[in-house]
Order: sequence, then C-alpha cells, then structure tokens
Amino acid sequence: MAEALIQKIIDSSVVDGPGNRTAIFFQGCNFNCTYCHNPETISLTSETAILMTLEEVLERIKGNLPFIQGITVSGGECTLQRDFLLPLFKETKKLGLSNFIDSNGGISFEGMAELLAYTDGVMLDIKAVDPSAHLSLTGHPPDVVLDNALGLAAGGKLYEIRTVVIRDVLDNPGIVEAVSRMLKPYLKDHEIRYKLIRVRSHGVRPAYQNLLPPREKEMEKLKAIAVKAGFLEVTII
Ligand code: SF4
Repeated sequence: MAEALIQKIIDSSVVDGPGNRTAIFFQGCNFNCTYCHNPETISLTSETAILMTLEEVLERIKGNLPFIQGITVSGGECTLQRDFLLPLFKETKKLGLSNFIDSNGGISFEGMAELLAYTDGVMLDIKAVDPSAHLSLTGHPPDVVLDNALGLAAGGKLYEIRTVVIRDVLDNPGIVEAVSRMLKPYLKDHEIRYKLIRVRSHGVRPAYQNLLPPREKEMEKLKAIAVKAGFLEVTII
C-alpha cells in the first residue's frame, strides 16, 4: 500500500499554482536552506508529520472537488517521495484535476519521465546560480537544479521559476540575468513565469534571522531584467 509522510494539507490555496488548488506538503527535504521558513519540514522523521495512505490523501482531495482545479505537491521536497506521487497523479487525473509540482530542483527529473507525463507544470526554485553561493545557502551545488530547469523548459513543463532575494547577499542582478540568459531560448515557445520573493524572517531558525529583505528598487531592477527577457508574468511577493 502506497504511503507518504505528510506535513500538512491545505484544502484550498490560490498561491500554489494556477487557480484554486489543494496543496500537499510532503515531509523531508534534501536541502537545508539558511532562510527556510518551514525548517520543521526538513527532517525525514518529524514527529509533527503524519503517515498517510494514498486512499486517505485521495479522500481528502475528493472532499475539495467542487472548489479546486487541481493539486500541487510541495514540501520539504516532494520528489523525495516520488513513488507516492506517481499513483497519486494517476488518480487525480482520473478525477479531472491538474497536477503541479513545487520543487527545489535538487533531485534530477531525468529519471521521472512517467511522473512528468502526468504533470501539468513544475514550479522550480533557482536559489542561486553561482556555485559557492548555492552551496553556502543550501548545502548543495546548483548543477542538478540548473540541468532540471533546462530539461523542464525544453519539455514544456516549466511553469514558474522562483528566486528568494536577500538584501546585500542575493540581491545583485547576476542571478536573474543568468536565469534569463539560460531560459530565454525557450520563452518564445513556452510561457514561463518568474516569481521574485523577498526573504522573510518569520519561522526562520534563530541563527539566520538577521537576513534582511531587499530594497524595493533592487526588486524592481530584478523584475525589469526578467520582463525584458520575455518571462510571461513577473511577480514580486
Ligand atoms: S528547499 Fe525549501 S523546504 Fe527545503 S530547506 Fe530549502 S527552503 Fe526549506
């Protein structure tokens, strides 16, 4: 019987992909980001998470059917539990729902072709492009993330890029310029959104609470770069 460790389910969310969606937050993450505002989702053995069967998750989703267009699986890093995602996505497709994945991109999608066939779109974090910045932020180099961005864009599955911006640490134009250069060739064939997120201290572990949100003019500069490159919808949150 398929089971997954789930941190929480939000029955109706308008910020986790297109339309109104049930968002399922899977427990466990392969990254350890300094600015993580859900650090309780990182451990693979959290006492606050619940082991749920496929049937239990589907029952919860079915209760929301009159109100939602689809589901979004998030985390933590939901693809750590990809053996659960495939049967889940097969069942939600039968219900007429769309399936979106919210991922940190740290696990290669190359081996997940069948899962992607049942996936309508991926929202992918690109936290940094510079190898040392990505390493110090997440504990991992960015190579797999960047390969995933290119592979998903080429396959028409990249719905949205997300970058968290931190004042004086990650607010230089370099990252958005690099992402724009990398994805520009795909933007004429596929619409891709770009979400620029101001870092927030709420929920962040005490040791990292000194991270400051960026200045407004820096955010606007980054937005202008992404708009110029041709991203469909560039939002600042
Ligand atoms: S990828 Fe997301 S959930 Fe995982 S540590 Fe980073 S911010 Fe937290």
